[in-house]
Amino acid sequence: MNKESTAVLDLLPEKERKIWKKHVGESSADPYSSASLHRRMRDDKPYSIWQHPFRQPYLDKPYRLWNRRTPEGFRMVIQKAALLGFTEMALNLTFWFLKEFTEDALYMLPLAGQLSQFAQRRINDAILKSEWLAEGFSDVDNVGLKIGWGSGLYLRGANSEKLLIEIAVGLLVRDELDRMWTQGAEQARERLAASVKHKWLLDLSNPSVPGVGINEAWEGGTQNVWKLRCKKGHLHEPVASWPDSIKDGKLVCPECGIELDETDKLHGVWVPLVEDAEYESFRLSQLVSSTVAPETLARQWKAVQGNPGKTQLFYNFKMGLPYSTSASRLAPDYLRELVGRSQHTCKPGGRGCFLGIDPGEPDCWYVVLEGSRIIAAGFETTFDGLCDVMRLYEPAQTVIELEPEVRMAKAFARKFPGKVEVFDYIPGSGKLGMKTEEIEGITLVKMNRTELLDDAFAPLKKGDPILPSDSPPELLAHLAAFLRIKQVRSGGGEYYQYQKSGPDHLGHAYAFAFLAKRLGGTTAEMPTVGPELVGGKSRFIPEGETPRWRL
Ligand SMILES: [Zn+2]
Repeated sequence: MNKESTAVLDLLPEKERKIWKKHVGESSADPYSSASLHRRMRDDKPYSIWQHPFRQPYLDKPYRLWNRRTPEGFRMVIQKAALLGFTEMALNLTFWFLKEFTEDALYMLPLAGQLSQFAQRRINDAILKSEWLAEGFSDVDNVGLKIGWGSGLYLRGANSEKLLIEIAVGLLVRDELDRMWTQGAEQARERLAASVKHKWLLDLSNPSVPGVGINEAWEGGTQNVWKLRCKKGHLHEPVASWPDSIKDGKLVCPECGIELDETDKLHGVWVPLVEDAEYESFRLSQLVSSTVAPETLARQWKAVQGNPGKTQLFYNFKMGLPYSTSASRLAPDYLRELVGRSQHTCKPGGRGCFLGIDPGEPDCWYVVLEGSRIIAAGFETTFDGLCDVMRLYEPAQTVIELEPEVRMAKAFARKFPGKVEVFDYIPGSGKLGMKTEEIEGITLVKMNRTELLDDAFAPLKKGDPILPSDSPPELLAHLAAFLRIKQVRSGGGEYYQYQKSGPDHLGHAYAFAFLAKRLGGTTAEMPTVGPELVGGKSRFIPEGETPRWRL
């Protein structure tokens, strides 16, 4: 045992010392032993999940599942409230992984813009405070790639364009999965598949809405819930009985009403709701935190009453639960927040972009997607104007709605063979999937309305950075106009239907662009088309002029 370890041991509380002693001589057995042995925290004390007042007994099991015997392809999912110590666990796992194995690791955050602060505050500070890390890491100045014990630690934002094509990693951590752009998060998983061994995946996030992102992942796993035992022996998960789990500012047993104190919190136990699942999943609320007072939560809960947006935040970040308001919609405040987080602006053209058109009288509305991001939206007053839009963006695929201008929509599709498909909604409420058929030399795509809109809006609901930072107000207003309302069939049974609360053309145009992307691009040559679809009134876009928002 070296001198540093002995000094660290002396600083530990009794329970911690016992646990630590089990690992004497094999400090590298797992990430927790390694961290408690080598890491010093801000208060200069050794890292510990038992240290008063920051006790985190719930971290014990998740930590122990990571060790040298952890099987290849192991996955852990954590649906959590804020400030429970899971990010520190993820970091300790990453450090230990780099030290013990010769494979690289990838730590992913939602936005590239968050990386430098994360690298400075979480990683570089940890390295400065620990001799062990300082000796292992050779260069800490590079934000995107750090070298620890000869292995690479890649830090990436899920929104980076220049992603990860070349790298293969044995450990992937996706921190704040629900705030990530789906495409980037998926791409990262492919980097894991390219690795030689391990292929370990840790997903953690505050949830957003039910059935999406981390909540969907949690449901697919073992669904571990953290249960506390009251002094009469009732085992219960406090968050399951929220808001009845707090009475008069105290945490209480929902069965007998007896108060639970800090000692009871220390003796919680993980209980899986599903025994036989392919991976481990956990969920945790701030109700069991040793640093968040129940009365604080009760006060915050009272303050959010009557405000659906704030109630959602309370559930997501304090309770660690997904939440959606009953009349489900993309609320204006929420859309503005997405715009605020955006890292791209609109632009005149994009390679391999996709165009969606909602034609009508008097205007034909359109949205252009590059990848999953909206890069333009606007309207034209004629179909010739739409030809200008085609020439300007040269989309790889376009979808235009058949109705109400059936004849013009077909003529438009014939002008751009292989480049434009025509869309028609399938009536009814069943989930039917997508159907295509050839009629009169054009491709007709059909789909149920609710199904298409559900698919198209899912990335927005999840918070993907789709909207440009200079989104015009009309785009946000049209997206917010959709209300998803539960309907009941006469013979019983429920289904959902979208109804509009205002102009919604750009929302439909976006859904068609989303569908165009799903259909994929073609290599057909873009034909030269003159302004002849409707006589006279065509718009001319001077060469080199950025149309910006044509609203
Ligand atoms: Zn009880």
